[in-house]
Amino acid sequence: MPRDPYQVLGVERSAEDGELKKAFRKLARELHPDVNRDDPEAEEKFKEAAEAYEILSDPDRRATYDQFGHEGLRSNGFSSQAASGGIEDILSAMFGGGNSPFGDIFGFGGRSGPAAGGDVGVTVEIDLAEVLTGAEREVSFQAVTRCEHCHGNGAEPGTPIRTCETCGGQGAVQQVTRTPFGQMMRQSACPTCNGEGKIPDEPCETCDGVGRLRKTKTYEVDIPAGIEDGQRIRVTGKGHEGETGAPAGDLYVEVTVIGDDRFERHGEHLVTPAKISVTRAMLGGTIEVPTIEGMEEVKVPTGAQPGQHVVLAGRGLPTLRGRRRGDQVIVLDVVVPKKLNRKQRHAAEELDEVLDDPHPGG
Ligand SMILES: [Zn+2]
Ligand SMILES: [Zn+2]
Repeated sequence: MPRDPYQVLGVERSAEDGELKKAFRKLARELHPDVNRDDPEAEEKFKEAAEAYEILSDPDRRATYDQFGHEGLRSNGFSSQAASGGIEDILSAMFGGGNSPFGDIFGFGGRSGPAAGGDVGVTVEIDLAEVLTGAEREVSFQAVTRCEHCHGNGAEPGTPIRTCETCGGQGAVQQVTRTPFGQMMRQSACPTCNGEGKIPDEPCETCDGVGRLRKTKTYEVDIPAGIEDGQRIRVTGKGHEGETGAPAGDLYVEVTVIGDDRFERHGEHLVTPAKISVTRAMLGGTIEVPTIEGMEEVKVPTGAQPGQHVVLAGRGLPTLRGRRRGDQVIVLDVVVPKKLNRKQRHAAEELDEVLDDPHPGG
């Protein structure tokens, strides 16, 4: 008895078309007869997966299976290409495109075209004050760029460029692979011209005919105010140059914000602990605290409590989008002296007497 097709593909019974396709594509890659020549079971497993997909990707078959199981499919006259040994048809359908449910499943339909350039990553460091103002940094990095000597066509200037004879200028060739299930047609980049379709008579001396070469590039990055540590800025098209006709990759600039012990950052807000004496807490007054813009005098209210916040509104960091600035929050820490000299002890005892409050707050 054949296995449950949902189980074969490893999907839920509610799986939608996209999920089915994804699951089957993954299995088919793993079980493909081409990559499993040594595994005699691979062919059977591949067939099983193909059959499961055949059933579930067809709404009529799927509905019939859901209601009546494999028995229902048989009695309703649904025959399986995969089960009836037509794996060649399936493969050609899969690799050759077309209208079958397997068409284009490997994305091999048509020429893949010139390859886009890769992305480049760099890191920059800024400090907290620059988070407030925003910053500019010049970054240098190695990237594939267009060869200026040949303007990217790979030919020594003034020498002719021929059309590639192997691919007739198409840049792609059809390859026929023999598999246990028959011949398979596959399209791949032309090995003679590396997919360019053209071959220079005299390759450019600077780039060896590639048309591109690695060079140090520099770029001035604008780092916006309010950026968070670890955030990346994407600069479109500033990465590696792509093959002729394909887009360049992107430049990613990862920003490291150097920590500052005096401030704890919570998004756009800054938190600063500040120690005050018992008497300052009782009497109030002013203390000096660091802000992102320098030292500043801050008022401590009379009767300040341990952990109490003094908020400097709008003195934090800007938000990444918009002009609002967060707050700086000063958290008061009341320091109780651990030792007293005679004079202090005397004063404390006198205070204790006049406060006359053995259970404060009780
Ligand atoms: Zn060149
Ligand atoms: Zn070629």
